Amino acid sequence: MRIGQFQTTADEQPWCGVRRADGTVIDLPTAGYRAGVDIPNRTTDLLATWEWRRKVDLAVEYAASTGVGVHEADELDRHAPVTDPEKVVCVGLNYRDHAEEGDNPIPETPVLFSKFPTSVGGPEDTISWDPDLTGKVDYEAELVAVIGEEARRVDQDDALDHVAGFLVGNDVSARDLQHGDGQWVRGKSLDGFAPIGPELVTPDEVSDPHDLDIYAEVNGERLQDSSTSNLIFGIDELVSFCSQAFTLKPGDLLFTGTPPGVGVYRDPPVLLSEGDEVTIGVEELGELTNSCAYL
Ligand code: ZN
Repeated sequence: MRIGQFQTTADEQPWCGVRRADGTVIDLPTAGYRAGVDIPNRTTDLLATWEWRRKVDLAVEYAASTGVGVHEADELDRHAPVTDPEKVVCVGLNYRDHAEEGDNPIPETPVLFSKFPTSVGGPEDTISWDPDLTGKVDYEAELVAVIGEEARRVDQDDALDHVAGFLVGNDVSARDLQHGDGQWVRGKSLDGFAPIGPELVTPDEVSDPHDLDIYAEVNGERLQDSSTSNLIFGIDELVSFCSQAFTLKPGDLLFTGTPPGVGVYRDPPVLLSEGDEVTIGVEELGELTNSCAYL
């Protein structure tokens, strides 16, 4: 199942929907209401709903047989599949080659940092920044795990039960702020610097999250090209590790790190500027394309 957040021009607010292979999208709250199940508008609230998968199945079944709540995808505005997560947790140096490219030692335990929830953006949003604030904006292709069931002190063996699905993310980074501030919070948390999308893909549609091609392209040129099989710490290990220290809540995003090829370490460096188009892709999850603009 592929879950996103969509809106028609007539809708006052976005709603969570299931995108189907035939190019249609099912409005879950509307179809659910008619089918007798209560489905909230926001994905973060959906994931916190008891038995949400069963309710979604009912809504989808109802929509498929009646046509209620069915839209053509290309007639809808697409928002980030998850908005307002309580936390955006990120992992640094989680691909062996990326650690080496920055001359960093291979970490023995995950190195965590975070982005503010206000950094989350969607597949149709522009990555924008004030060129007077930062002149070194970089891309990072990442596989993102979305937390479903709350996770507190979970074992690695049970950790994936707490993952609702996966999506494509771009951990956009202002390198001058990241490296100049002494810690990373400002450089990683500019508004809109965590675009995600196109949809949240549930685990039943992902063959193996630890064996997916992952890449980044800037203006069509492929600059990162790797596989999640190169992850140092897997998603189960990361969820368990995080949950020993803090509770992961439904809708929380876990950016799992980026492979080699980020712009700042290239020779010559590749830094984003106004008009650039960045595409991040993960096999089976889709592609996320955002253009860049100055504020
Ligand atoms: Zn990153």
